[in-house]
Amino acid sequence: MTWRRGREEGSGTTDSSGAGSPDVRANLAEVRERIARAARKAGRTPESIRLVAVAKGVPVGLVREAVQAGITDLGENRVQEGVAKREALAEGPTPLRWHLIGHLQTNKAGRAAANFDLIHSVDSLRVAAALSAAAGRLREGPDPAGARRATVEVLLQVNLAGEETKFGVDPDAAAGLLRVVAGLPGLGVRGLMTIAPFSADPEESRPVFRKLMALARELAGLRLAGVSLDLLSMGMSQDYEVAVAEGANLVRIGTAIFGPRGG
Ligand SMILES: *Cc1c(COP(=O)(O)O)cnc(C)c1O
Repeated sequence: MTWRRGREEGSGTTDSSGAGSPDVRANLAEVRERIARAARKAGRTPESIRLVAVAKGVPVGLVREAVQAGITDLGENRVQEGVAKREALAEGPTPLRWHLIGHLQTNKAGRAAANFDLIHSVDSLRVAAALSAAAGRLREGPDPAGARRATVEVLLQVNLAGEETKFGVDPDAAAGLLRVVAGLPGLGVRGLMTIAPFSADPEESRPVFRKLMALARELAGLRLAGVSLDLLSMGMSQDYEVAVAEGANLVRIGTAIFGPRGG
């Protein structure tokens, strides 16, 4: 996919006055420039990387600014918050794609399936089965939008950092989970997602991202029907350039666009 280029404006930092709001347009221009630079350096086209602007905890007015600056993909951690923003921004001229990037509780699977275009956080058979059942209800329900969403597109979240993060399937268990999930109706596995442990040094994420790429290649070798492993969701504000260098095609960026949350 491609995005429209924002106007080049200034150095792309957040307002340092404290109470002021971030310059979303300038921040986006800088993030896009850095993605493009990292892509070219890796021999990739900038258009092959989709920027997901992570809107969790961000007021809807700022999210709208990002959309006006050409953002088409938005990420949320929580189903409820994502649905509220999706409704608030539904009237815009460009269709938006909503990404669920946070842990999903099975009792929210129905709302998640109906409202998100890609769910990055499938990490257990329980969650996958709940989404499969939700896809079945959408298919049979009266809502034509539901029928359109009868295949719920998902990524498997892999925990490559060991103890440091709570969620994600263990890499050794990923093939087993994928085989079972591939057999569930109404689900389409499109790739893998990971969260690198936080570090001030983005280079520390590089081995994690390499492992995700290697795992995607290995799992693609299983050639499971209905599974594609084309999408690699990795890289956040701290380490997205390293992620792009290592093959990410979905980067999830919040702070570098919207400034620090809750501040
Ligand atoms: C919050 C969050 C992001 C964005 O983090 P930033 O550091 O603000 O860019 C990306 N992915 C996930 C899963 C998140 O929870």
